[in-house]
Amino acid sequence: MKLKKMKLVLSFMKGNQKNYITAIVFMILATITSLINPLIIKIAIDSIIGSQPIALSGELLALYQNIGGKDYLLGNLWILGVILVLISAVNGVFNFLSKKYIALVSERTAKNMRDDLYDHIQYLSYSYHTKVDTGDLIQRCTSDLEKIRAFISQQLMEIIRALTLITSALIIMLSLNVNLSMISFIVTPIIIFVAYKFFKFIKEKFKQTDEAEGAMTTVLQENLSSMRIVRAFAKQDYEIDKFNNASKKFKETDFVVSRLMAYYWGTTDLICDMQLGAILILGTLWAAKGLLTVGTLLAFIAYSQNMIWPIRNLGRVLADMGKASVSLTRISEIFDEKGEDIDLDEGLKPDIQGNIEFSNVSFEYDTDKPVLNDISFTVKKGQTVAILGGTGSGKTTLVNLLVRLFDCKTGTIKLDGIDIKEINRKWLRHQIGIVLQEPFLFSRTIKENIAFSNINASNDQIESACRIASVYDVIVNFEKGFDTMVGEKGVTLSGGQKQRVAIARTLLNENRILIFDDSLSAVDVETDAFIRDQLKEHLSDTTTFIISHRISTLKQADLILVLEKGIITQQGKHSELVNQQGLYKEVYDIQSSLQSDLEEGGENHA
Ligand code: ADP
Repeated sequence: MKLKKMKLVLSFMKGNQKNYITAIVFMILATITSLINPLIIKIAIDSIIGSQPIALSGELLALYQNIGGKDYLLGNLWILGVILVLISAVNGVFNFLSKKYIALVSERTAKNMRDDLYDHIQYLSYSYHTKVDTGDLIQRCTSDLEKIRAFISQQLMEIIRALTLITSALIIMLSLNVNLSMISFIVTPIIIFVAYKFFKFIKEKFKQTDEAEGAMTTVLQENLSSMRIVRAFAKQDYEIDKFNNASKKFKETDFVVSRLMAYYWGTTDLICDMQLGAILILGTLWAAKGLLTVGTLLAFIAYSQNMIWPIRNLGRVLADMGKASVSLTRISEIFDEKGEDIDLDEGLKPDIQGNIEFSNVSFEYDTDKPVLNDISFTVKKGQTVAILGGTGSGKTTLVNLLVRLFDCKTGTIKLDGIDIKEINRKWLRHQIGIVLQEPFLFSRTIKENIAFSNINASNDQIESACRIASVYDVIVNFEKGFDTMVGEKGVTLSGGQKQRVAIARTLLNENRILIFDDSLSAVDVETDAFIRDQLKEHLSDTTTFIISHRISTLKQADLILVLEKGIITQQGKHSELVNQQGLYKEVYDIQSSLQSDLEEGGENHA
C-alpha cells in the first residue's frame, strides 16, 4: 500500500491513533504470552518428570524454587496445570482488550471516512455527477469503505501479529535447538514469497470483480428507479436479461478469484504439512539419538502448529490488502475529484436585482458538438422570459449555465452587470430558484419536503407558498395535512401535484430569479394560468424563466426565445413572433387549431 494511501487512512483515524497503538500493544502482549505454555510443558517433561537440568536463571529460577522446586512440583503436577490455565486467561484478557480498542478505532475511522466522503460528494461538480454511475458510487461508499475498515481492524493487525509471532518464536526456538529451528523456518520465506507473488497477481482480478459488482449494482439501481417505465413498456424480460448478464459477469470474475484462492490454500497447505512432517521425522530421529530432549521436540511441534495458521494466513491477509488497496484507490479517486465549491468563500456576494444579459454565449459538453451557439439576449428585473424549443435544443443547458452548474466557454453571462463567474457559486444559486419538470420529492412529510429550501420558514410562509403554487387545498385535504408522508410509506402524489409541491418548495426561498424548467407541464391549463397570475401578483419583482410548449403560457412573457439546435432563431414578444414565419408561428397555429377543434367538438356534443 502506497504511502499516500496510508496517509489518507491515518488522516481518517483523527485522534484515534493512541487507541490504535494501545490495541497493537495488547495484541503483541497476547502473542508473546501465547508462546509461554509450550516452554512450561517442556520444563515439566524434561526437568520435572525427566532428569534434565532446569534451564532457568535469575528471577525465573527463584520463582521455580519458591513454588517448591522439582520434588514438590513432581508430587503436585496440578500446580503446573493451574499455571497453564492462568497464562491462557491472561492471554485471553490481552486479546479481548486488543479487540476492544481495535473495534473502537475501526468503527470511528469508518464513520469519519463515510461522513467526509458524503460531504465531499455533496460538493462535487454537477458534471461529475452526470458522468459517474450512481451504482458504482454507492458501492464505493459502502463495500469499498467496508474493505478499508477490515484492513484497519484485521489485516494490519494480522500482519503485526504474524511478524511478532515469527520473530519471538524464532528467538525461543533458536535458543532451544538451532538445527531444528532451521528446518522449522525453512519454508517460511517460501510461503511469504509465494503469498507476495500471489497477492500481486490477484490484485487485478479483485479490481475486475469490484468493477463487475459495481456494474451489477448500477443495473439494479437503475431498474429500481425506472420501474414505471419498465412496466409501461413491458420490458421486464429485457431488464431481467440485462441483470442476468451483469450478474453472470460478476459471478465469472468472482469465480476466477475463488479458484485462485483455492489453488493458493491447497499449495500452502501442502507446503506447511510437509514442514510439520519434516519436524516430526527429523525431531524424532534426533531425539532418539539424544541430540534433543522430548520436551524440546514437543515445544517445537507446538510452536510450528501455532505458526502455521498465521503464516499461511499472511497470504490471505496480503491478498485482502490488495482488495483494500483497490478500494482505497477507488475512494481516493472521489477525494481527488475537485469539488466545485472549493472556493466557498471566494467570489462576490452582491445584492441581486435580477437583470440578466447573455452575450454571445456558446457552450459544448465534453464532446465537440456545440450545444449552445452565440446566444445573446437581455432581461430586465421582474420580466418573464419564455423559452420554446424542441427536445435537445439546449433549453436546460441554458439555465444550467445561468446557475453555473457548468461554466460557459465563450461569451459572458452578466447578472446586474457582473459576470456570473465572479459571483460566489453558492450565493448565486441561493438567489436563483429552479423547479424541474420531474421534481424529486424525498420520502419525508410534505412539510419537510417544502421546507427543504428554507428550514427556518414559518408555517405561515409555507402555507402562503402553497397557496401561490395552488397546492394548499390538496394538502389540507389529506388526513394528516402537511404531516402526510410522501412516497412509499405515504401518499402517492400525481405528477401535477408533485410539480406544485416543488414550486412551493422553490418559492419558499424567496429567490430573485425563478426558473421553471417545463415544470408546469403536468398541471392543467387553468391551474397553470392561475399559478402564473399568482406569481405576477406576489412576485412582480422576480425575474422568471419559463420553459414551456404551451402557447397560452408563452404568449404572456415579456420576451420569448425560440431555440433550435442551440441557436436562438427568433426572439421577441408574442405579438411580433406570431406574425413571423418560424417555429413559434407553427406551434401557435397547431395549438390554436387544436383548441378550436376541441371547442367545436364541445359545441357539437352539446
Ligand atoms: P433540452 O433541455 O432542450 O431538451 P438539453 O439542454 O438538455 O436540451 O440538451 C442539449 C444537448 O446537450 C442534447 O444533445 C443533449 O444530449 C446534450 N447534453 C445535455 N446534458 C449533457 C451532459 N451532461 N453531457 C453531455 N451532453 C449533454
